[in-house]
Amino acid sequence: MVKYIFITGGVLSSVGKGITTASIAKIIQSRGYNVTAVKIDPYINVDAGTMNPYMHGEVFVTEDGGETDLDIGHYERFLCKDLGRHNNITTGQVYWNVIEKERRGKYLGKCVQIIPHITDEIKRLIKEAIKRDGADIGIIEIGGTVGDIEGLPYLEAIRQMRIEEGYKNTMFIHVGLIPILDVTGEQKTKPLQHSIQELRRIGIQPDMIIARCKYKLVEESISKVALYGNISRDMVISSHTVENIYEVPLIFEEQGLGDKILDRLDLKPMKSDLSELREYIEKWRGLDKNVKIALVGKYTKLRDSYISIIEALNHAGVVNNVKPDLIWIESTDIENGKVNIEEILSTVKGAIILPGFGKRGAEGKIETIKFLREYNIPTLGICFGLQLMVIEYARNVIGLKDANSTELDPETPDPVIDLMSEQRGLDEYGGTMRLGSYKIILEENSLAYKLYGYREIYERHRHRYEVNPSYTDKIFSNDLKVSGYSYDGRIEFIELSGDTHPFYIATQAHPEFKSRYCRASPLFSGLIEASQKVRIRI
Ligand code: GLN
Repeated sequence: MVKYIFITGGVLSSVGKGITTASIAKIIQSRGYNVTAVKIDPYINVDAGTMNPYMHGEVFVTEDGGETDLDIGHYERFLCKDLGRHNNITTGQVYWNVIEKERRGKYLGKCVQIIPHITDEIKRLIKEAIKRDGADIGIIEIGGTVGDIEGLPYLEAIRQMRIEEGYKNTMFIHVGLIPILDVTGEQKTKPLQHSIQELRRIGIQPDMIIARCKYKLVEESISKVALYGNISRDMVISSHTVENIYEVPLIFEEQGLGDKILDRLDLKPMKSDLSELREYIEKWRGLDKNVKIALVGKYTKLRDSYISIIEALNHAGVVNNVKPDLIWIESTDIENGKVNIEEILSTVKGAIILPGFGKRGAEGKIETIKFLREYNIPTLGICFGLQLMVIEYARNVIGLKDANSTELDPETPDPVIDLMSEQRGLDEYGGTMRLGSYKIILEENSLAYKLYGYREIYERHRHRYEVNPSYTDKIFSNDLKVSGYSYDGRIEFIELSGDTHPFYIATQAHPEFKSRYCRASPLFSGLIEASQKVRIRI
């Protein structure tokens, strides 16, 4: 019998429901249970692929090519396991399926309604996702906040699941914010009380309440939340701010969260083993050196746009005994002269050219790349980063002054980066890029091979453009080399030889999606290692 834990949110969004869900999943996994997590996004988009990262944060790509919500990334990183597109359910998918069934005559003679047809489809997708992952316990996070109109069908569906699956097999956990008043320093529980009331009005009585607060909950707050939430005090958990997100499972465990959940779900109490996570946190706490890494991109004002890259740098920092200190460079600021690249880069030890789309900010990145290449600053290019590094090289070393990508200038005389052939003629945007995991074969005697230690590797992808095959002889005739190809001959890795530059490598893939605290990405580790070694003179 599968057990379901439903996570709802109250008061406001961005209170770390994703991290809470991932942490609960981790705690249960650490007791030897087979756990999976599902994120429900009540928006009408079919997936996150068509959303601007500036509004919604990073689009996380799964092995099977799903373009999912960034919370799936948290789940994968906490659980150290790969999930798939089915772990992210959206209103777009639910309605799509129902409308398709209606057209096929599945509901013949019936009036198709939110209850029962939409709610039935929601329940089906949840159960199917958990079954597919072969899990005993599924943690389902309902995105948004209780009271949102678009969230209602989901709350109704999980209310029904309580009846259908039984009390012992379902648990409701409500996560909400307790703000602290500046003037008095008091923890205010009223907004949380209201969100619990709203939940109960819909027919859901939470079994546990996790209160997000800047500081540890004081006794009075716990009592109030318990009283108004209609639960016992030991089912109120404090989720206070910690320095590192991987500490969240540890502070939950200190409050006995794992045992309480197992008890509530009538599951055998098992001994928890979070030693790997504890070790990671210990090491991270002990880091007393910093290394400044520049991140060059155009969505730098919303850090969630690059969350997997930030995480990958932290993982790589722990491996190299140093804390990455991130210096964000907004590429549009370089273009309009707001910042001086030379000045900023003279303070850093390494740089990442971030992934991205479109013309805005691209020339600023190209300018920065020239500098990084000429001044021997360790550089890692990711996806768009690789493409811009090829453009910079074509212009400034090979002499193709107007070289460009057709994404940025469709009329360029030298389209060194061009649309992949199979992308031509596509008239749909959603889910049509080259997506997900593909095999890459690395060249022997390359930096890429040295870093990965294998000839054959797999990384995830999300792009429409690539190095134009008709330019490869010209561009790679000098010291820039191709060091990895896909099985069908696409360029996946490029690098400068060690004699020219200490660390200058780029990939068409997105290695950040596979980095874990328990297994840092070789490219990120390599960058941090090189950044500590190299002496830069500007
Ligand atoms: N815009 C580029 C492409 O579509 C790069 C995409 C990316 O960085 N993920 O190929």
